[in-house]
Amino acid sequence: MYCTHCGAQLAEEAVVCPACGCATENHAKQQAAAKANASDVLKKVAKILMIVFCAIEGVYLIPLCWMLPMTLHYIKCVDEGIPVSLAFKICTILFASLPAGVLMVVADEV
Ligand SMILES: [Zn+2]
Repeated sequence: MYCTHCGAQLAEEAVVCPACGCATENHAKQQAAAKANASDVLKKVAKILMIVFCAIEGVYLIPLCWMLPMTLHYIKCVDEGIPVSLAFKICTILFASLPAGVLMVVADEV
């Protein structure tokens, strides 16, 4: 292998020419490989973060399992003039919406 800059003979694994100090083709290859490695690591970390955050954010969807049915039930009760039970009001305060549950309790006292 010869230096592309000054033509001096180089060892096969040389990354810098000992005669002129210029970077050899090996140097460019090493840099490209290091860059690709760093990029792969970042992509792997991003992949793991996406999976972890899916799990974390997904937890926030679980309350919808009871929030939606409770909301629909209450809308139906209000629209049809059916009184909601005390248990429903307490559950609303505890698991759905504190202000909405308090208003449900107060609404019957008025
Ligand atoms: Zn050289």
